[in-house]
Amino acid sequence: MPDVESESSTQPEAMEEEEPLFSNLDLFLFTLIAGLIIYWFMSRKKAEPIPEFKKLDQPAPSTRETSFIEKMKKTGRNIVVFYGSQTGTGEEFANRLSKDAQRYGMKGMAADPEEYDMCELSRLAEIDNSLAIFCMATYGEGDPTDNAQDFYDWLQESDGELNGVNYTVFALGNKTYEHYNAMGAYVDKRLEELGAKRVFDLGMGDDDGNLEEDFVTWREQFWPAMCEHFGVEASGEDSSIRQYELKEHNDINMNKVYTGELGCLKSFETQKPPFDAKNPFLAPVIVNRKLNKAGNRHLMHLEVDITGSKIRYESGDHVAVYPTNDTAIVNKLGQILGVDLDTVISLNNLDEESNKKHPFPCPTTYRTALTHYLDIIHPPRTNVLYELAQYATDPKDQENMHKMASSAPEGKALYQRFVLEDNRNILAILEDLPSWRPPIDHLCELMPRLQARYYSIASSSKVHPNSIHICAVLVEYTTKTGRLTKGVATTWLKNKLVADNGHKSTVPMYIRKSQFRLPFKASNPVIMVGPGTGIAPFMGFIQERGWLKQQGKEVGETVLYFGCRHKNEDYLYQEELEDAEKTGVITKLNVAFSRDQEQKVYVQHLLRTNKEDLWRQIHTDNAHIYICGDARNMARDVQTAFYEIAEELGGMTRTQATDYIKKLMTKGRYSQDVWS
Ligand code: NAP
Repeated sequence: MPDVESESSTQPEAMEEEEPLFSNLDLFLFTLIAGLIIYWFMSRKKAEPIPEFKKLDQPAPSTRETSFIEKMKKTGRNIVVFYGSQTGTGEEFANRLSKDAQRYGMKGMAADPEEYDMCELSRLAEIDNSLAIFCMATYGEGDPTDNAQDFYDWLQESDGELNGVNYTVFALGNKTYEHYNAMGAYVDKRLEELGAKRVFDLGMGDDDGNLEEDFVTWREQFWPAMCEHFGVEASGEDSSIRQYELKEHNDINMNKVYTGELGCLKSFETQKPPFDAKNPFLAPVIVNRKLNKAGNRHLMHLEVDITGSKIRYESGDHVAVYPTNDTAIVNKLGQILGVDLDTVISLNNLDEESNKKHPFPCPTTYRTALTHYLDIIHPPRTNVLYELAQYATDPKDQENMHKMASSAPEGKALYQRFVLEDNRNILAILEDLPSWRPPIDHLCELMPRLQARYYSIASSSKVHPNSIHICAVLVEYTTKTGRLTKGVATTWLKNKLVADNGHKSTVPMYIRKSQFRLPFKASNPVIMVGPGTGIAPFMGFIQERGWLKQQGKEVGETVLYFGCRHKNEDYLYQEELEDAEKTGVITKLNVAFSRDQEQKVYVQHLLRTNKEDLWRQIHTDNAHIYICGDARNMARDVQTAFYEIAEELGGMTRTQATDYIKKLMTKGRYSQDVWS
């Protein structure tokens, strides 16, 4: 083949004068290359077009004020309460603090950091006597909540000057987790590093203990300190301040009334991707079966169909579902409060400047609000009791309700006993305090929002691209007052029959990405520890390792540690697991039956038995370790077992062993998906 380039370079002039622009050879090569390019394009797997989705649930950005400074100036506010909130509690606390400000002659506003330009924080000093409060929840493994992610990134990158900015932080977290209140502590420390002034100490709220009590105690010390700091006095006003006004719609077109949608009206009828927290997909239930063979619990396996939704997931992700409250409880609430639940209402924010126009989608009916939007099952927080105490006609009841909201030891003890230990929800309190009948609209204003529930997905999208599997246990218990209490979501899931009166049952859902991922290299061994429903993500992992094997990939050891009470009762997915071991997908299946003998046998006991193998897998073969299930006891005990193995087989001290495991965590080789 002639060297085309040198030819053209040695004879440029001759080419110009005597030859056409392209020689036959040029044309041949050009055609060949073009043909190859066209062939390559045509033969490629057609990539799915990525449609340009318009978010359904958010107004055009131009209608939102993104400058909190301008907003504060315009509306004469001096306190801004930012919240990092995943399940709504941080937001609730922020709202309470912003409302409190009025009692102290100040004006506050609660603000979602995601909605505002946080770079403006330095300008807060432009407002006299100003203060930024941060109610920061920690999520997962010490992570920020979704809505605080950008703020967290900004804090990390910023070298801005926050001189003259006053701040305080209240952290929300749970002591059973490794990174207790990491986010609150980080924000508190980082703001100081950037030059802001901490005007009150960091508050630490522990949801494993009594988060409400921690908050109330912190708040009761915080406000007097602020009064002193700003030289103001409490107005002493005790009465409840309404944030929303009720409007009843007597003659409304029912097409304009929300029936449970989270974002856009009619989004359940006309389903349009992308599906997310405000626009969940209604996935039909295609399988709902009991998993346990015996025993009086109900463990279940559900499969929901995501065909056509364009939803994609990875093994280890979580599926979020929006449950509804039990109809019987909703009806009882209507009865006891003497209201027609089908009245169409709106609760409109009295603060016209607020980004939040209603506490839940309005207009709607009380029935829809109590069924879809409000959490009526968890024991109410003290602010609900405090603000609604005025409606108790018996002075003793009124006094007790006020007392429960105070930080006085007697009040705290009363709240602890009457509400928390006795597990009284709002209906139980109404039943037990007959003199107390608050107006339903005021109650609806104060109740927290019903939250989506997350489940670790129990399938692999490589094997099941069109369905998502869930493994869950029905929560049911009797409270000290003898009331049978059922878990909202698991009861609702249990009742999601595949065909309900000829209709398909559906589940409003979306996916939440996680960090709980199989190793990038399939040849790395994996060690999975998941007793009880902690098996869920590992069903996905096992399916995926099997699929990889089928693709001819080199797949490393796949070791499972599962635990249950009795072999003949709650050995979840026994057949699937034993089959996977037979076909070599699971290289070693270890099961601890805790109650089949006198002495308890748990997964950590089996880990210790296999310590030599484990140490080789971890230390020599770069294994990835995964723990899923109960955070309070199991995950801790299992971690201790790993410390002991590193101590014994790695010849380490306890401190070295702890560091060793912590290092695995930082490298992403020791991952946890745990709940408490
Ligand atoms: P489970 O059936 O109650 O327990 C599974 C196995 O783990 C049983 O054999 C149990 O033994 C054993 N076990 C108990 N304590 C242990 C420990 N410290 N270390 C190792 N193993 C231990 O499991 P489950 O029903 O799936 O529930 C597991 C936990 O997670 C429960 O605490 C449950 O309340 C919680 N959970 C929470 C959620 C949520 O979303 N928040 C959802 C599901 C479950 P024994 O019972 O014989 O002691």
